[in-house]
Amino acid sequence: MLKEFKADLHIHTCLSPCTDFEMAPSRIIEKSRENKLDLIAICDHNSSENVDALMKACHDQKIRVIPGMEVTSKEEVHILALFENRDKAIEFQEVIYDNLPGKNEEDLYGMQVVVNEKGEVIDFNQKLLIGATTLSVEDIVEYIHSFNGLAIASHIDREAFSIIGQLGFIPPDLELDALEISPRIDYYEAQGKFNFSFPLICSSDAHYLDEIGRGFTIFLIESANIYEIKKALKEENGRKILKVSRNV
Ligand SMILES: [Zn+2]
Ligand SMILES: [Zn+2]
Repeated sequence: MLKEFKADLHIHTCLSPCTDFEMAPSRIIEKSRENKLDLIAICDHNSSENVDALMKACHDQKIRVIPGMEVTSKEEVHILALFENRDKAIEFQEVIYDNLPGKNEEDLYGMQVVVNEKGEVIDFNQKLLIGATTLSVEDIVEYIHSFNGLAIASHIDREAFSIIGQLGFIPPDLELDALEISPRIDYYEAQGKFNFSFPLICSSDAHYLDEIGRGFTIFLIESANIYEIKKALKEENGRKILKVSRNV
């Protein structure tokens, strides 16, 4: 049976250096519940190390977590990668780590906190997660698909770190599954402005608790997984996007 799932598919945790430590698993889930989200995706910069904690913290909760990552290409374009399960995300992370040079400088960029499901610190990631990988946009999309994931261009309405802002266009053969708009732009305005043949979704790109759910997409799907989302993006078997909106 098809059901409505209110989704925010772009949420950072305390692992991203540009976030606050308040982005801990239980608080993210609490805030998601307050905003009546059924489905969230955890997408930290160039890492999926806190995905596990969020998935465990969500156990027995009504909210479902999709493991993801926000990858930075060598052109400084942000691409969201969403996966079927935790193992796929971690395998993908190995590819990203192999192509991510540099070391974090906490004083300059912030702490990169790996936590468990209780929000207890288990490690500080030392990689330069805020940096760019050596992979092109095309490489990244290809890798995401080789792990059966969904590849979505992040916040295309923003100048910084978006495919439009950095490249000025979307390469014609790039097989993106969707384009994401941020809550800064209205959906109808975005439809007129970005007249591409890709489906549009909206998510929050939350770096702080108060931002969770500010952008959302309501999917009509059978269950909370990326294959159902993929069908909704392609409008297959009755699956579809019901609403793309923001709370600002
Ligand atoms: Zn981004
Ligand atoms: Zn982001």
